[in-house]
Amino acid sequence: MIVPRWIQTRDDAAMVKAATQLFRSHFGEDPEGVWAAPGRVNVIGDHVDYAGGISIPFALKANTAVAIRRSGAPNYRVVSLAPGETEAARVDIPINEVGPGNPNSWAGYVVGAVWAAIEAGVIHCAEGLDMAIVSDVPVGSGLSSSAALECSAALGALELASGRKATDAERSALVDACIRAENEVVGASTGGLDQRASLYGEEGKALVIDFQSGNTELVPFDLSGHGLALLIADTNAPHALNDGQYASRRGVIDEVTAACDANTLREVDNAVARAAAWAKTEGKDVEVTCKRVKHVVEETDRTARAAQALQADDLVLFAKLMRDSHESLRDQYEVVTPELESVFQAVGERGSRMTGGGFGGSVITLVAEEEVEQVAEAITKAAEEKEFPEPTFMVATPGAGARRIA
Ligand code: ADP
Ligand code: MG
Repeated sequence: MIVPRWIQTRDDAAMVKAATQLFRSHFGEDPEGVWAAPGRVNVIGDHVDYAGGISIPFALKANTAVAIRRSGAPNYRVVSLAPGETEAARVDIPINEVGPGNPNSWAGYVVGAVWAAIEAGVIHCAEGLDMAIVSDVPVGSGLSSSAALECSAALGALELASGRKATDAERSALVDACIRAENEVVGASTGGLDQRASLYGEEGKALVIDFQSGNTELVPFDLSGHGLALLIADTNAPHALNDGQYASRRGVIDEVTAACDANTLREVDNAVARAAAWAKTEGKDVEVTCKRVKHVVEETDRTARAAQALQADDLVLFAKLMRDSHESLRDQYEVVTPELESVFQAVGERGSRMTGGGFGGSVITLVAEEEVEQVAEAITKAAEEKEFPEPTFMVATPGAGARRIA
């Protein structure tokens, strides 16, 4: 018999308890406060954030929590118990050694975000910090555990140093600092979708982010009014966004954009034709270059239409756009793995797509509320038949953005 496995998420009180316990066991004292930041699911609009496109993510109810205390010492001490792990990882590093490329391990997301925010003049804290981290955001599943890590640490360090809640302007500065940490400290060339979702998310709302204008709009996202749920299937075939694949896709877009003397691909008229001309002159693969550019152009247009469909409450159209998005990521951007495709095929004609950067990770599907269990079974069965890792599931509704929880 097939029994789908569900991902467990804890409420704020349980996260505070777990983070505080971990803090005490490593540092022998109580933390001064605990902060949480969510992972996110991108409903539509992938691989367009770095090209001035549009994305529609929302913050998950799965969070990363960090308990923090100022230590007065000249170093950061960071301990993290990642989801599913029984042993915590620990890194101690002098404050003045943090910077581009260092540390380029998991701890870089944490202390790198604090470093970048200090550099930007938004955190005023010269002393060391002790930090204990617990998380329910699956790691490397396309649900942005990395942004949850950066945003919880950076918001915590900021509010602890200032002694008050972060202002909107400070949150906006933290978005940039967290992107910089991911790009420069860890070396993952991601483009800003995740950090906005984690810092700006609100209960019951999705975000329509326009990366060209920089504008983020909160829109109601209530599938249950339609008797639907958003089912996330994590293929458990983990990706790593800093292994070069992601960067190679982004690299094509950045090169074409630069060759057209533009700041973003969105600004370029007739982008596909110009990309073809550029590829020919440069001796690059014309067909591949055109496919990559076409995905970005079409996905941005598609996501704009998806935002209108949401506003018009047209979930039939929305579902179709999701499928089109998946097929473009598969056939033009070529970031869909066999494990992701197996889920997409197993859900039939439902609105479904891979989410996040691809090369592994998760697939989301619009499912009638009463069919959730049955669809999860079908996905699990398909994976079993192909001898893929067993998927795990979550029904996602929009939760709160980064905040202090104790
Ligand atoms: P995603 O953000 O989609 O989960 P990424 O590849 O961007 O995938 O980020 C995953 C990386 O983030 C991990 O390899 C690890 O370095 C770091 N990470 C995320 N969550 C944690 C955690 N709770 N503890 C330690 N490291 C973490
Ligand atoms: Mg990430």
